[in-house]
Amino acid sequence: MLYKRSSELFKMAEKVIPGGVNSPVRAFGSVGGTPVFAKSAKGAYIFDEDGNQLIDYISSWGPVILGHAYEPVVNAVIEKAKLGTSFGMPTELETKIAELAVSMVPNIDKIRFVNSGTEACMSAVRLARGFTGKDKIIKFAGCYHGHSDAFLIQAGSGAVTFGSPNSPGVTQGTAKDTLLARYNDIESVETLMNANKGEIACIIIEPVAGNMGCIPPKQGFLAALRSLCNEHNILLVFDEVMTGFRLAKGGVQELFNIKADIVCFGKVIGGGLPVGAFAARSEIMDYLAPIGPVYQAGTLSGNPLAMAAGYAMLNALNDDTTIFESLNAKTAYLHEGLDGVFNGFGIDYTINRVGSMISVHFTDEPVVDFKSAAKGNNDTFKRFFHGMLQEGIYLPPSAFESWFLNDALSYKDIDTTVEAARKVILKLK
Ligand code: PMP
Repeated sequence: MLYKRSSELFKMAEKVIPGGVNSPVRAFGSVGGTPVFAKSAKGAYIFDEDGNQLIDYISSWGPVILGHAYEPVVNAVIEKAKLGTSFGMPTELETKIAELAVSMVPNIDKIRFVNSGTEACMSAVRLARGFTGKDKIIKFAGCYHGHSDAFLIQAGSGAVTFGSPNSPGVTQGTAKDTLLARYNDIESVETLMNANKGEIACIIIEPVAGNMGCIPPKQGFLAALRSLCNEHNILLVFDEVMTGFRLAKGGVQELFNIKADIVCFGKVIGGGLPVGAFAARSEIMDYLAPIGPVYQAGTLSGNPLAMAAGYAMLNALNDDTTIFESLNAKTAYLHEGLDGVFNGFGIDYTINRVGSMISVHFTDEPVVDFKSAAKGNNDTFKRFFHGMLQEGIYLPPSAFESWFLNDALSYKDIDTTVEAARKVILKLK
């Protein structure tokens, strides 16, 4: 496949946009080459500026759970837009989507909508600090919670790809309040808690990690975190920006039956429009302005178009009793297919999968944390990625990203993908 026009567009973009992109991972930094410019998308496919049709495994990094240009969402946005695109006033729709979200997710009474996952996580941590009166937070190496200062300490996702897990611009003062633990290593958490007694406001975690590839929590890990938090009077914040409304209606809290104190959302909750949210029980949420002392705000928060898209999406997921089974079955089918290919050619690889999140690391060791994820052979990944792109399969351009399946993918699309992988691996040997 040719990507000539994409290359030309990228050169033009580089002149007026830093690195040619508005979010770093899009720039193909860890795999090289120039990014593909999208023109349109429908169902499981992206149609790019060169006229290529690509099978999409990014799904806009998660939100497109029911396929691109999903009609109920598109129609809801069109109808809403005709009535005005922004008011900066409360609307009934905000209450409706809040009621729906609260009914779908366990252990939350109230939810506040923001405009991105970054804002959701940043606000959740401020709320945790305000509520507990403590300053420090624990995060896990390789987890990504958006680009706000407190989280750019050994962050995952693009921060790893671009070699700046500890970004310049984050002050020492901010960095010292972020304590780092190892994913799936409860002792590393206990050590930090014991060394910082009475100072830790919250632990923030991707309860299924997606920003160092997909990494499931080990059996008992989340439950152990929960009991440590109870013991030390620390809030447990689940960053469900990727997992919320994707792994189950109620996210990881429902999937693994673990209770979080604050939950952050993004991606699916906005149906592809810029929406994030954070939620908790009333006692915590009522600490927020205007009724509480913790300030948090947004001119476009609860924007009618965004709420219309999100409401249509959550309703679709709420009404569909088989959606998660269907997504899981498709992802399991892809997993089996890829296993067949890689095993057949004796490639060192590890596939991790939870529900419709899956990723391939080219290492034969189990991938359980950032350190083991970093052992993957990036050269193999690069060649695999570009080989697949030539075959019309659009994968995330880094091993430190999860693939997201959407339900518009057919079994035939998955067969095509597995056959493409077979061809590509044959060339890699
Ligand atoms: N948390 C997680 C788990 C994420 O994956 C992301 C983005 N990929 C964010 C937070 C930040 O979300 P946004 O890019 O919408 O700011």
